[in-house]
Amino acid sequence: MKQIKVYLNLILITLSITTIQCNQKKSTTSENTNTSEVSDTYTMADFKTVRKVDTHVHIKAETNTVVNLARANNFGLLNIAVDVPDFPPVEQQVAIGKKLLEKNPEMMAFSTAFTLTDWDNPNWSNLVIKQLKEDFENGANSVKVWKNIGMEAKDKDGNLIFLDDPKFDPIFKFIKDEGKVLLSHAGEPKNCWLPLDSMTVNNDRNYFRDHPKYHMYLHPDMPSYEDQIKARDNMLAKNSSLPFVGVHMASLEWSVDEEAKFLDRFPNASMDLAERMSHTQYQSQKNRKKVRDFFIKYQDRILYATDFQESTETVPEELKKYMMEVWLNDWKYFNTNEMVTVPQLDTPVQGLALPKQVVDKIYRLNAERVFSTAWKPADE
Ligand SMILES: [Zn+2]
Repeated sequence: MKQIKVYLNLILITLSITTIQCNQKKSTTSENTNTSEVSDTYTMADFKTVRKVDTHVHIKAETNTVVNLARANNFGLLNIAVDVPDFPPVEQQVAIGKKLLEKNPEMMAFSTAFTLTDWDNPNWSNLVIKQLKEDFENGANSVKVWKNIGMEAKDKDGNLIFLDDPKFDPIFKFIKDEGKVLLSHAGEPKNCWLPLDSMTVNNDRNYFRDHPKYHMYLHPDMPSYEDQIKARDNMLAKNSSLPFVGVHMASLEWSVDEEAKFLDRFPNASMDLAERMSHTQYQSQKNRKKVRDFFIKYQDRILYATDFQESTETVPEELKKYMMEVWLNDWKYFNTNEMVTVPQLDTPVQGLALPKQVVDKIYRLNAERVFSTAWKPADE
């Protein structure tokens, strides 16, 4: 009897050990699943060490605030010259871009631009090509066209000039033949055609309050949002092999569905996130999964960018504070599933917790592929 009791106890002990082992195994398995999800994403602590590229900044003065902070945080930069009335002349911006590239070849690249001043000269396209040739020889890797095309610049008869005008075609062909990239800021965010109180994000509301000239809701005689997008798309249809970046999410910032359609239609096009993070976050507040799926599906076509600006009027401490806030909020949004508070939205937005591989593409690898000669040490 005693033997039987001992035997039964042994069976019980064995059974309970087996159960504990099973439970342990179960919990190890589920822990492994969690661990692999967690280890598949970067943390906030990784921000500084992961190599990144910000493909959209405007450095208009040799004061080095943006460059030094970018270097300290492991960022390469694309410094973009642009034909904006309150910016220094294009050639001055290009000269700064060239100097910064020479000093920091491992972390700087620059983009040039051209003006429409001489548009009515029959030789205009050739004059622009001559200038671009020189800029490319000096190290420019891309050319930016701005919203003045379609919204402001007019020919001698007073007609607005659009991006699909045939006079641009030899220039775009030259850019393609030289292996360079066209960056295009077409029109404005869709909010620009809405009254201030109907706009989706605070940054647009503030910008168009300060720049009524560009607030198209106030100018119903001007071309529509759709006219601007159509002219850009017509140009791309004519120049389909041109390497192209639609800056500001190709001005389709209000809809990931429209962005997806655009990227499907134009396989040589990418888009940058500059100043359009809030529009993306506004959509993910409504449907996080949809926005997350968009970034995963189009992980090869999106470039991280901010639109930081530095000029002689910049207060370095203020700019540094602002840059760190933007960079860290963006990193938190893409890499974690935590709530992120951004000034452009009235309520917080949950992060997307994108896999590391996707983040690496958006933050660096896509930029290195699109701008294939950029961010190389001098001796490479
Ligand atoms: Zn910009």
